[in-house]
Amino acid sequence: MRRKRRTIVSERQLRNRIREDAAHLEAEGALIHGSITPPLQPTPLVESEEEELGASFHDSPPPPHDFADSSLQETVDLHLLTDCDSQYDSSQDSYDSYEYGSNPEGEPEGEDRREDWDFGEWEDEYLLPPAVTEQEQLIRDLAAWTVYCNIPRTHVNKLLVILRKHPSYESIPKDYRTLLKSVRNVPVKLVDPGSYFHFGIAKGLSRSLQTLGRDMGSDIKIFVNIDGIPIAKSGSSQFWPILGKIAWVKRCKPFIIGVYWGPKKPIDVNIYLADFVEEATLLEVTGFEYCLIIVFVTIVAFICDRPALSFILSIKGHTGYFSCLKCVTEGVSYRPNVNKRNSIFIVFPELNAPLRTDASFRSRENPQHHLPGSSLLENLFHFNLVDGVLLDGMHVTDLGAMKKLILHYIKGKYQRVRMSRVSRAILAYRISECRKYVPSEFPRKIESLEFVGQWKATSYRMVKLYLGPVLLKNLIRDDLFDHFLLFHTAMKLLSDETKCFKPEILIYCQNLLVKFVHDCINLFGLQFVSSNIHHLIHVVFDVSRFGPLDSFSAYSFENCLQILKNLVRKSAMPLQQLVKRIGEIEIVQMLNTQEELRNNLLVDQLLHCHQNGPVLPGIFGFQYKTLIFKGTTLCTIIPDNCIFLTANRVILIENFVEQNNEILIIGRQFLNDGDFFTLPIPSRQLHCYEVWNLSFLNSWPLREVIGKAFIVPSFEIITPEKPQSYVASLLLSNDCIL
Ligand SMILES: [Zn+2]
Repeated sequence: MRRKRRTIVSERQLRNRIREDAAHLEAEGALIHGSITPPLQPTPLVESEEEELGASFHDSPPPPHDFADSSLQETVDLHLLTDCDSQYDSSQDSYDSYEYGSNPEGEPEGEDRREDWDFGEWEDEYLLPPAVTEQEQLIRDLAAWTVYCNIPRTHVNKLLVILRKHPSYESIPKDYRTLLKSVRNVPVKLVDPGSYFHFGIAKGLSRSLQTLGRDMGSDIKIFVNIDGIPIAKSGSSQFWPILGKIAWVKRCKPFIIGVYWGPKKPIDVNIYLADFVEEATLLEVTGFEYCLIIVFVTIVAFICDRPALSFILSIKGHTGYFSCLKCVTEGVSYRPNVNKRNSIFIVFPELNAPLRTDASFRSRENPQHHLPGSSLLENLFHFNLVDGVLLDGMHVTDLGAMKKLILHYIKGKYQRVRMSRVSRAILAYRISECRKYVPSEFPRKIESLEFVGQWKATSYRMVKLYLGPVLLKNLIRDDLFDHFLLFHTAMKLLSDETKCFKPEILIYCQNLLVKFVHDCINLFGLQFVSSNIHHLIHVVFDVSRFGPLDSFSAYSFENCLQILKNLVRKSAMPLQQLVKRIGEIEIVQMLNTQEELRNNLLVDQLLHCHQNGPVLPGIFGFQYKTLIFKGTTLCTIIPDNCIFLTANRVILIENFVEQNNEILIIGRQFLNDGDFFTLPIPSRQLHCYEVWNLSFLNSWPLREVIGKAFIVPSFEIITPEKPQSYVASLLLSNDCIL
């Protein structure tokens, strides 16, 4: 076995020598092979992979599995695992005992090495495809399979033992830690009553920048999320991760800055935040070096739920009398039922209280807002403690206002608000029908009405932005429906990146939301105006400074938290487990790889070739059922078959034809359209059209497409003048890449 290991090392050395020779030749101008030489600046990782993948397909026969995907993953494996080694200073000897992902011997630590992580292994494979032996490939595949399928490590060890019984596989590692190059020792810091591990802002940010593969300049702004997550359903064991994300970059995934684990949350928030604040202040002033330039990092906002904000800012919780994050309004104790002495609500009916400022926060002008002591976050030089604390769409509008509204419609205590049993049954039917029409861009369908109280936030968001008017029309009282439309219209405008920056739109939305909150008192009672509902009147301010609602929502952070939680398999030493697992797959790979790479590879492609038509006279060419267009799926069947063309024409797709290098869409156009609702503004101004009466077949070039539509039945009464109609809404850019 040892002899074989030495053989592998010598192969690597051989490849290194060849690479050095190639560089030497290239320096002498004798080498034309452009892809061999690493560029001076790291090029997008994805692009280089794409090119190399193409080469791999042509140069070698396809293996039995999906070669393209696994190759992409392994490449990320290589540089991330190597990075992990240098961070944790674990045993290099064991890692160097085989080729997988190890660095060339004798190379210096630091940035030079990092460039090698990007390109070195690909160059090797490109230069010498046969150099990766069958066994090496098997080791790589096993490692990738273990990580991606999250296989229990004991099972992996048993598999390795079985494989090693075969003479041809005896050089395979016998332990998963060698296979995956797991970190052996995790130096955690004690933070009472648990422990904390600091991954680092600069480290995570570097990986994000590598993944993005584009120049972000020397001044980078980041969002930070801090939240507690229980590890198991029973018990109080919990993680408190600190996550970061480059602000205002679409499809940029979060990175881990640090993680606390303990039987309960940290007793002293400042000890928990110490490493994070120390590094953040350092990066604000001195920056860090990335690709030969100094990058300064500014934390511009915290995106957290309300309890986490109370914790990290040392302020009163959401039931406090002065708990509003943005203004100094004083909550009112309200007891709706005088006979129930314990049924007390803290409500916030005031709509125009003076606003807080960073200076007033730091000087404790409103001492009732604060808890004793101060937060270390006040040490961040460029952080605004009021404006930088965001009311994110997921917590305030989806899980906050939208959930509260729909629960009151369905289960509310007030007879005049609550739906009748018949209406609830119709609503359940409408929801089940709409499930068939949810476009594939959404991560999940809307859930059943039966579980409305436990819906995921995405379902509430879908109702808030797309389905609400269709689901609720004629099922709740007209004044309640009009009231909901105030909220729906404001949310839709504030989520639309083409509209939300316009001052007149912002003023209009502010008026809508103030009226909405004010009318809540009349319609639902004073107790409805809780902290979350009150915060709606401050959402517009955040949008005016940070862009559309979805650009600073907590959704991406929530996805990351779930991934972290699922990495822990045993109850013993969960923090160490987590750090080791992340070391194995590394943050960027874990959070980004497949999805990120797929999203970045926005290659338009036609799929599912067929000859079944329909076609039109004069149109000849290959026919397809599916088109992946800028990462969005268009198809000939529901739910992905509806698009908006220029001039707001709504089309149902029936076929794609490639003719003379041009893609033609064959389908039918809705000949009639109208507003589905007219107040507070006509729905067509929100790109929400009621459509009916399909045309004969026609064709349009792909360039006329302006977006994909979310189309659902209108559930309106059918008349001779208006047969079965549908409601088509243009997907927002956050839901659709088009
Ligand atoms: Zn307020």
